[in-house]
Amino acid sequence: MSPFSSLTFGQRLLELPPVFYRHIQPQPLSEPYLVAGNAQLCATLGITAGELALPASLALLSGKQFVPDVSALAALYAGHQFGVYVPQLGDGRALSLGDTVDTEGHRWEWQLKGAGLTPFSRMGDGRAVLRSTIREYLCSEAMHGLGIPTTRALAMTGSPDPVYRERPETAAVLTRLAESFIRFGSFEVFYHRGQHDEIRQLADFVIRHHYPHCAQTDQPYAALFADIVARTAQLIAHWQAVGFCHGVMNTDNMSILGLTLDYGPFGFMDGFNAAHVCNHSDHAGRYAYNQQPQVGLWNLHCLASAFLPLVSEEQLVEALSGYREQYSQYWLMLMRNKLGLVVEQEGDEALIEALLLAMHAHHTDYTVFFRRLADFDMAGENHALRDMFLDRSLFDGWATRYAARLQLETRSAAERKLAMLAANPKYILRNYLAEQAIQAAQQGDFSLIASLHDCLSHPFDEQPQYQAFAGEPPGWAQEISVSCSS
Ligand code: AMP
Ligand code: MG
Ligand code: MG
Repeated sequence: MSPFSSLTFGQRLLELPPVFYRHIQPQPLSEPYLVAGNAQLCATLGITAGELALPASLALLSGKQFVPDVSALAALYAGHQFGVYVPQLGDGRALSLGDTVDTEGHRWEWQLKGAGLTPFSRMGDGRAVLRSTIREYLCSEAMHGLGIPTTRALAMTGSPDPVYRERPETAAVLTRLAESFIRFGSFEVFYHRGQHDEIRQLADFVIRHHYPHCAQTDQPYAALFADIVARTAQLIAHWQAVGFCHGVMNTDNMSILGLTLDYGPFGFMDGFNAAHVCNHSDHAGRYAYNQQPQVGLWNLHCLASAFLPLVSEEQLVEALSGYREQYSQYWLMLMRNKLGLVVEQEGDEALIEALLLAMHAHHTDYTVFFRRLADFDMAGENHALRDMFLDRSLFDGWATRYAARLQLETRSAAERKLAMLAANPKYILRNYLAEQAIQAAQQGDFSLIASLHDCLSHPFDEQPQYQAFAGEPPGWAQEISVSCSS
């Protein structure tokens, strides 16, 4: 029995041969405590948030006692890290507890992150610190609130056990859920080892459980690859449109389902900077904001190589060649929504690019600007917007174009405003907000985590009680540095 009486755990990964994973034994943390539980996700799963706090649940969610009779597994994968192929990575500090079916019939895989060493830990300690766990928990749920595909966060447990990073910190375990955690690197590892049967087994598994419609086509593997290309293009278009930087787009962090996966040194931009690098260890800016669409394609090329034993080179190249157009179309659709444009016009892309160029030149706060744009007055001076540009004339020039463009629209101004408020979040997980939640939590106060989670679950709604989370960052926020050490 699992601690959640209404849930029956299975372990679907066992359908794959043993070469795909290793069995893991519990490595308990001492004195575990619950830092946060996700009531909304609990409801989806068919459990209550109260159940998360029961001792048996805490034992499960802190990695002390796995689900009886269900194998806990660490998965094998490899990946291209900063352009270099690393032959063996794998779940070095994550493990699969198994999977459950939710109230709507969807199956979720449960993972613990930070629950101890695995055969894939390499030089690592298998642990995660409270700081990075809070960041992943909050950002997963913020992304979900924004409507961006992502892995989810169910719970966070902490422990006084020390974990050594740049300085001593304390340990935490994140319970995260997804339809699957399979990565591009899960395929790459077998390609580079010349184990082509395993590539086929994995592709069959992925089609069976996640892309069943591909099985109905003439060429299921080609269809699968084309779908992964499309989902990746859409995911990255979402990131760009919301001003999100992943920070470590290595192929082992790329989800086969097009989910945002493995939150590390990510960041939402405050002031817009097209070349923004959120990961302070990324000295060359390989994963800068404006590189992300291109990196997505580069990563898909790596995946395409791994599909060579299954799909003709011609078909792979054809699928890859569609990426740019799919990305651009999806991005344009998202940006048109942000500008409140429904009548598609030839010059829309140029209008958007001109705005981004001006915002880049002035480091205009990305989120605040677009939110305010909903109040744009075609006949007015738009002080709240124009004051966000040091060179007011730059804004005025663009505003004249935008006002003219809005004349071509068919919706009323009121309708447009409502639609724009639903496309431009008021609240994002700014680094400084996460930092404040972390500092409070390190002092034992988890209330800011709960309020941020609550607020970011509805990022498009006006929430007067959370007004403080909506502003531009304070001066001290410039000092925050986020690296891979988590
Ligand atoms: P990342 O880029 O953070 O997603 O991690 C890259 C690889 O390093 C993955 O295989 C992780 O499982 C592994 N890894 C990261 N941190 C640790 C750690 N503290 N202990 C063991 N393995 C880790
Ligand atoms: Mg990773
Ligand atoms: Mg990581």
